[in-house]
Amino acid sequence: MRYYNVDSAIAVASGIVVASWIGTLSYMFCYHGTLQALTDGEVSAVIAHEVGHVVARHLVEFQHMLLNRRKRELEAYYIGLLLMASARYNPRIAVELWKNISLSYPDFSKGDHEHPSVEERANSLAQAHVMEQALTIYKEVTPRRPVN
Ligand SMILES: [Zn+2]
Repeated sequence: MRYYNVDSAIAVASGIVVASWIGTLSYMFCYHGTLQALTDGEVSAVIAHEVGHVVARHLVEFQHMLLNRRKRELEAYYIGLLLMASARYNPRIAVELWKNISLSYPDFSKGDHEHPSVEERANSLAQAHVMEQALTIYKEVTPRRPVN
């Protein structure tokens, strides 16, 4: 694995894997494959989720074990949904992305005691009160030509 652009907040790792994660020093790592395989809106959902971890200070909380991993993951998806809506990306893209990944990569999507399943992620974002909140933000910030 090779990293470049490490002086920026987002580092791109070579490889075809579609994944991203927050590393130490708050660098966000994103596989090159993620950027190539996904649409702009889908990439926004992935990056917004990682930013959600930063906004919720999960790296700090991890050190103190204040929240369990599954709860932190779902919280980051929720924050990420609001962030991508704020950036004028349709929040429905995130739900569709996770549903598609769940169907396309069932083994990857199962989840474990630390990670919610991909279907659980999609369902948590599709909850009416969550999606309505994101759509309200999206409609407020979206001019005539939304970013999709
Ligand atoms: Zn996460």
